[in-house]
Amino acid sequence: MATIENKFPGKDISSDDLKTKIPLVANYTSKAFRVAGVTFNGKKIPVMAGPNMVESEDLIVKTAKAVKKAGASFLRGGAFKPLSFPYRSKKYNESGLDGLKWLSVAKKEASIPVITEIMESKYLDVMVDVADIMQIGSRNMQNYPLITDVASTGKPIMLKRHYGASLRDWLGAAEYALIAGCKHIILCERGMSVAHTHKSSSRYLLDLQVIPAIKEISSISVASDPSHATFWRDWVPPMSLASISAGADSIMIEVHPDPKNAAVDPLQPINFKSFQVLMNQMDKTAKAISRKVL
Ligand code: PEP
Ligand code: MN
Repeated sequence: MATIENKFPGKDISSDDLKTKIPLVANYTSKAFRVAGVTFNGKKIPVMAGPNMVESEDLIVKTAKAVKKAGASFLRGGAFKPLSFPYRSKKYNESGLDGLKWLSVAKKEASIPVITEIMESKYLDVMVDVADIMQIGSRNMQNYPLITDVASTGKPIMLKRHYGASLRDWLGAAEYALIAGCKHIILCERGMSVAHTHKSSSRYLLDLQVIPAIKEISSISVASDPSHATFWRDWVPPMSLASISAGADSIMIEVHPDPKNAAVDPLQPINFKSFQVLMNQMDKTAKAISRKVL
């Protein structure tokens, strides 16, 4: 068990919490682990890249090849999307089961593993065939029955932090996954709602401090998603470099062949060329802390 003095009684996570509320998280010792041939928490920082939504077979295959060529370890993309508002034009409609099929074509053609979001347990059977990592999105961070069902499949899980959740609540949700048998869990910081972010200049605030905060109490792998946090493509590169500096163990980045025309969140993806440049910059930044990206 990690030992931590209750330096700040009543402040967020106490030593009593570590013993009685999140003992599995606190005792989590899987320092490095492999998923589909990719090592997490080793020297090399894996990058997961791809569009917000799996819009078509052509788009996802093209993107899979481009991100793989640039050095990404995983293709990301949602076939099932928890969009904030229910009204969807045909273009914005999630691709669902078709999207999953297109993801498996891309996975094969580009020979790259896949991370994709699961929203409902009824799709577990089809999901396990395609997803190498199951993503549980921010909006489902505290959907404990879903977390438990996904954990029972034995697949690695990436649990995104809800944009209003404390670290304590987030780790509580991770504890549910570990109790249900999940062996490999990645916690993904994706930006918080705080007072100033209600202005038009930024939708969320990327909580980089949470990365060293988690490392103080657990060896759980921590990812950062600057695309969802900034919602603004020009800010993705600097915040990706900052995430590496803060100790992120993996990075998730939205990449689209034609960002301005992305079906979902067109302000946040970067194009293939910018992604390639960013991969090189991240690699240089990682070297300063004895890690690497390429
Ligand atoms: C996503 O990764 O596509 C996504 C919907 O992220 P979040 O759950 O963090 O909003
Ligand atoms: Mn998204």
